[in-house]
Amino acid sequence: MPDRTVTAPALREPLKNLDTESVLALDRQHVWHPYGPMPNTAEPLVVESASGVRLRLAKPAYGHRELVDAMSSWWSAIHGYNHPVLNEAAHDQLGRMSHVMFGGLTHEPAVRLAKRLADLAPGDLEHVFLSDSGSVSVEVAIKMCLQYWRSAGRPEKRRLMTWRGGYHGDTWQPMSVCDPEGGMHHLWSGALPPQVFADAPPSGFEAEPDEGYLAHLHDTVERHAHELAAVVVEPVVQGAGGMRFHSPAYVRALREACDAHGVLLVLDEIATGFGRTGELFAAEHAGVTPDVMCVGKALTGGYVSMAATLCTPRVARGISRGEVPVLAHGPTFMGNPLASALACASLDLLLSQDWRARVRRIGDGLRAGLAPAAALPGVVDVSVLGAIGVVRLDHEVDVAAATRAAVRAGVWVRPFRDMVYAMPPYVTGDADVARIAAAVCAASSARAGSARAGLGDVCAGSAGAGAGTAGAGGRSADAGGGSADAGGNSAGASAGSVGAA
Ligand SMILES: *Cc1c(COP(=O)(O)O)cnc(C)c1O
Repeated sequence: MPDRTVTAPALREPLKNLDTESVLALDRQHVWHPYGPMPNTAEPLVVESASGVRLRLAKPAYGHRELVDAMSSWWSAIHGYNHPVLNEAAHDQLGRMSHVMFGGLTHEPAVRLAKRLADLAPGDLEHVFLSDSGSVSVEVAIKMCLQYWRSAGRPEKRRLMTWRGGYHGDTWQPMSVCDPEGGMHHLWSGALPPQVFADAPPSGFEAEPDEGYLAHLHDTVERHAHELAAVVVEPVVQGAGGMRFHSPAYVRALREACDAHGVLLVLDEIATGFGRTGELFAAEHAGVTPDVMCVGKALTGGYVSMAATLCTPRVARGISRGEVPVLAHGPTFMGNPLASALACASLDLLLSQDWRARVRRIGDGLRAGLAPAAALPGVVDVSVLGAIGVVRLDHEVDVAAATRAAVRAGVWVRPFRDMVYAMPPYVTGDADVARIAAAVCAASSARAGSARAGLGDVCAGSAGAGAGTAGAGGRSADAGGGSADAGGNSAGASAGSVGAA
């Protein structure tokens, strides 16, 4: 055994005494990052604090001590950072209890949250299983569906169907319904449960539904109905599997096919929930109520991790009729009071504002600011839905170059695979939305090497923010830009294709 008394005093040093270089050195030595190698080869930016829509860096990158956050920390921080209402809710709950177990005990924050979610969710999704992350909520959804059919005496109905291009999390069952190519299924062939994959839905929220594709969806459900427990998809927006929007008609078609052939429908609203697409839940674009629905990400306004799986009375009753009449799942931190109180406060905050108008305004700003990107070489598509803007390229993004270009424009983005995208906090003001759009344009035209010269020229007019910093860069800024080189080596870039990284 090592002598722990030697290291104990050092561990008691307050973290804020570490200088930036020490943080980076310890990070390199000990810490895994999402989809990252060990040791980490790409140097991350060190964030000291965050407030409103700005991340404050421990040391400036390209002259910026603060970056406007275009990512809402992966869809979650919809109200921005360090929000007084959410801070107060957290302090208030901490003074009562941060956590108690949920087995045999209950408490007001969890009960209020469940009631709130049941009221807000489409249709009769009124039973709520609280868990600690999106992936776990999908595991629970799948377990509910498989158990439903077991209880009904149909244990052979245990496969899942989805469409290509999806993302449902990184734990095992959710991985099995992620896009089989982007999800690195080849790494796990023979290990993941083999699921049924329909083709990816044709792109375009407003595009006329493709009759051939509608028939393909129906046929696939029908052909496999005898072995399917459920269809699991993201409605209207496929997020980390490729950032594509599709017609709500395809979600309706799945509902109809599932009803016709006795299959449950699970909608994963973890990314799309709570207003991001312009409706409170994306399923509302389609007028569809799923049998099971997952929410997460923005649930607590990005403060702490929490997710929920909602189901209808039919599903709950079905499970309860079985030989084992319980849902055999119970995470240690289930119903965590601190997270529940934050989720209640975040929902109150959201619904107390005209969130629809805010989301629309951000969408309008992104549409205007990203329009010039359509003319950039290498750009195949620019699309905006709700408060989500996506620029798709005809090549793999050079993550390092793209990140540098955005940081130079004072904005934090995290491109992956063949796209640069933004989903800003709903509190982002018009000027900051314009700045984000300009940075996304700059990042979209960033290529490794000399092609970076002149970044931001195309979009400088739309924001006025990019021009000075972007133009000044050239070689010297790049040379000194190690700290801005967030996630950009080849390992990081190819890892980006795994999913949300
Ligand atoms: C992020 C995400 C998940 C996984 O959530 P985690 O909290 O990261 O486990 C699942 N489904 C969708 C649609 C997501 O966007």
